[in-house]
Amino acid sequence: MSSIADEVSRRRTFAIISHPDAGKSTMTEALALHARVINEAGAIHGKAGRKSTVSDWMEMEKARGISVSSTALQFNYTSSGAAEDAEPSVINLVDTPGHADFSEDTYRVLTAVDAAVMLIDAAKGLEPQTLKLFQVCRHRGIPVITVINKWDRPGRTPLELLDEISERIGLTPTPLFWPVGIAGDFRGLRDVRKDEYVHFTRTAGGAKIAPEEHLSTDAALDREGDVWAEAVEETELMTEMGQGHDQEMFLAGQTSPVIFTSAILNFGVRQLLEALVELAPAPHSRTAIDESERAVTDPFSAVVFKVQAGMDAAHRDRLAFMRIVSGEFERGMVVQHAQTGKPFATKYAMTVVGRDRETVETAYPGDVVGLVNANALAPGDTLYDGAKVQFPPIPSFAPEHFAVVRADSAGKYKQFRKGIEQLGTEGVVQLLRNDVRGDASPVMAAVGPMQFEVVVARMKTEFNVDVQVERLGYSVARRTDAASADELNRQRGVEVFERNDGALLALFSDKWRLQYIEKEHPSLSLEPLVAAA
Ligand code: GDP
Repeated sequence: MSSIADEVSRRRTFAIISHPDAGKSTMTEALALHARVINEAGAIHGKAGRKSTVSDWMEMEKARGISVSSTALQFNYTSSGAAEDAEPSVINLVDTPGHADFSEDTYRVLTAVDAAVMLIDAAKGLEPQTLKLFQVCRHRGIPVITVINKWDRPGRTPLELLDEISERIGLTPTPLFWPVGIAGDFRGLRDVRKDEYVHFTRTAGGAKIAPEEHLSTDAALDREGDVWAEAVEETELMTEMGQGHDQEMFLAGQTSPVIFTSAILNFGVRQLLEALVELAPAPHSRTAIDESERAVTDPFSAVVFKVQAGMDAAHRDRLAFMRIVSGEFERGMVVQHAQTGKPFATKYAMTVVGRDRETVETAYPGDVVGLVNANALAPGDTLYDGAKVQFPPIPSFAPEHFAVVRADSAGKYKQFRKGIEQLGTEGVVQLLRNDVRGDASPVMAAVGPMQFEVVVARMKTEFNVDVQVERLGYSVARRTDAASADELNRQRGVEVFERNDGALLALFSDKWRLQYIEKEHPSLSLEPLVAAA
């Protein structure tokens, strides 16, 4: 039996942040291939019209019979330099929703990871969603490894791309592996720290791990000539500018190790895994609301970061995904739910395997476990054993889209209420109520309008209720207090609501209306909400 500290030290929990289409699904698959979870990546590669990540997971699962879910993929990886009898590293890759409308969901997911891989398309550089997600990582102090992907296709120069990163987001890039060959002519990588050449050979369709040859500097020069010399020159320039890897600065979020890859050819993917194992932090202690630190070796504790409906009709119940913060989790243990003070039995603890579920018997800090029948649990909740601990809640974002929702037929009111309540608890949308509108037509508040579509679809499939959605003309929300509410409600273009977390929100038709009211009534309490990532 290994100790908790040993289990923790071999774990790495991370997410890939990227703009849609940068290659997150392809990279996920390539990582799984390198961890030898799957034998061949051909099933998905080269296919035109890839659909959503979810269908990719499903397809992978069907084709390969591997352990995947749309929430977390766990795999073992044995580092190439590891001692023969060493335990493999355990890698937890937590999936982030791709669309900007679900940034609130993404923010919650990022509370569950210890590091992020920022995946950039070599031809496009930093894109809007990458930037937003990066800001979330910065805000949370999550160290970031930068991956410049699609180097097999024409793109920008490495120096241009790295300049953009340091200029636009103030993160100093520190290359670990520099490309040999311009974008579109990817021959291999210069291992900056070892000063050697890693030459890759393509496999048919990029379906297999690309064979590597390791060459000395001289042999590399013989083989690649000017192309090698240029890679050396450019990396030396970076080193002279002080852009070598520094572990402390990386962990402090000031620098970011950089690797160039082609996920589709499986070039540089092993190097990324090695960097994660070598450099990304293992799970560490977490600060509780009372400012105490819960060490990883303390008794069991975990944070719920996502609640999801059963993935198909056969499993109607809800899964609450928790990230373990401390201690050992054993299925069946009865833990405490900090928010309600009630015990919670963990008889059904799962990882999701495509459409099926696999039982988890034990898990350790950094691991993600899905709890079945978890209707009482909401994102941000704490579960613990032993001494009480409660971790800070996950902030709700400032909503910018608002819509009334009501049941199509009055006869369905009971199901409607139950369904809407549940979706509010899960955080699919925020729910706003006031006496004037009443319970039959609450207002949904969202960061992105696609969240409303999710409500409509789920109300229909899970609760069998057709709902009507009517958009409201508000676009700005402020937190207010009871003392200000009456005055605000008297204003034109303003309405005050209670949100499902108890906060009082005032909605304004637009920011000019807000500014005018602030000026006319300076004593009113109007606090900005946390801005969306
Ligand atoms: P996601 O939206 O970030 O998950 O991106 P996907 O993994 O679905 O990739 C988007 C498109 O880029 C797909 O057509 C992939 O085949 C392609 N792609 C991904 N990685 C690479 C790469 O390294 N090189 C090339 N040429 N294409 C890639």
